[in-house]
Amino acid sequence: MAGPKHSCGVVGMNATYNVVPSLQRALLVIQHRGQESAGLSVFDGKYVQTIKNNGLVDAVLNENSLRSISGNCGVGHVRYSTTGSHGAINAQPLTVQSVKGTVAIAHNGDITNYHALRENYFKQGWSFLTDSDSEIIARILSKHLYSTDEPFAAIREMMSELDGAYALAIMINGRLFGVRDPHGIRPLCIGKTEGGHIIVSESAALISLGAEFVRDVEPGEIVEIKDDIILSDKPKGPINKAHCMFEWTYFARPDSVMDGRCVYDVRKKIGIILAREAPADVDLVMPIPDSGRAHAIGYSVESGVPYEEGFMKNRFVGRTFILPDQSARENAVAMKMNPIRSTIEGKRILIVDDSIVRGTTLMKLIKLLRSAGAKEVHVRIGCPPVIAPCYYGVDMKTRDQFIACTHTVDQIRQSIGADSLAYISINGLVEALEIPKEDLCLACVDGIYPTRIDGEKYRYD
Ligand code: 5GP
Ligand code: MG
Repeated sequence: MAGPKHSCGVVGMNATYNVVPSLQRALLVIQHRGQESAGLSVFDGKYVQTIKNNGLVDAVLNENSLRSISGNCGVGHVRYSTTGSHGAINAQPLTVQSVKGTVAIAHNGDITNYHALRENYFKQGWSFLTDSDSEIIARILSKHLYSTDEPFAAIREMMSELDGAYALAIMINGRLFGVRDPHGIRPLCIGKTEGGHIIVSESAALISLGAEFVRDVEPGEIVEIKDDIILSDKPKGPINKAHCMFEWTYFARPDSVMDGRCVYDVRKKIGIILAREAPADVDLVMPIPDSGRAHAIGYSVESGVPYEEGFMKNRFVGRTFILPDQSARENAVAMKMNPIRSTIEGKRILIVDDSIVRGTTLMKLIKLLRSAGAKEVHVRIGCPPVIAPCYYGVDMKTRDQFIACTHTVDQIRQSIGADSLAYISINGLVEALEIPKEDLCLACVDGIYPTRIDGEKYRYD
């Protein structure tokens, strides 16, 4: 059985004051990284208390539920599960009792050797409470905490057993650690508040807390976050970075800066490059809200074609992308977006979106544009065709989902009903990111993976 796959958000904080309100606020800022469950664990000097459940941050971590807990050190999590179990049992942080005290873990990413590890530990007589890869991380860490006195060494040993993507906030008996997998696939950064430090998936959370950005956690690095200082242990030997490009094109908030590049700036630059690579004779440029907005602004700036909003998005309709069947997804997209007829009618329109996966969103929205009187509809996409699964925590799992695996660009154009369609090139995307190609994970668009995965091409072979 497939374990739950998730691209989530994590936070950890250590301060001279109660960190619960700040953890809750940081989780609200990274809510887009996971809307299925939310939770936090804090250490009150003696015990770890955890509040977690299915639901959004403001429902699970409300004034009432938070009233009873406080502490100077804690970790928090928002979870975006895709396949596998959606039960509250998989909500995080996950806590286990180790010989060195309570371990609380918040995890973003996917452990690709999860099944092999689980089989191996089953044979050694272990059993598990959940089918989540985060539990195996917690238990392997506990095992190494038994055999070594130093948490840094135990975490390093744990990392040597894990493959795949992981950004972790770990609390061990009231001590806080941040960990990033050796390729730095998922983001994690450090901020400073008055009297404390915070680690969080996205720097946007620091702005909301009035915290100062300190730096990213480096690939393979372990940091201990104290209220006044940061201790670090870096891997020996060369580092092969592989930052997930989809964080910038779709997943992260535009106001976050990750590995030195602001998400908004990257998206705008993608739009600029798209305008150079694939110009069009049109009257207006429009974004698919919200994820295509910065891309569309860049396209408009570079091409000189005026920018307009053509859709109003209903923020209260939840995620359409993970609904289980096609007609449900199409209906939900239509419920979520209303066309603004006065900007559309009689116009040749170019719409910009961040990505095409199945093609559902655009098929539906182009119909809406035409019914609102659009004369022509041209489409530009800020991510090259998605052709290969993500094993590192983004909800793109099987090749049969990807329209670009079975259709040429022209066939996709026909199937979504567009007058023209162009995607940014891989080189164009890399240029927009301003990060060397070898430091990126582009597996979903080039099929070459930075870690070994059975049946897939490995980058370092
Ligand atoms: P499609 O409708 O082609 O299947 O998916 C593309 C649309 O879904 C784009 O508008 C993009 O913003 C959004 N999208 C792409 N990847 C994901 C994802 O992993 N999760 C969610 N919720 N939406 C996604
Ligand atoms: Mg979108």
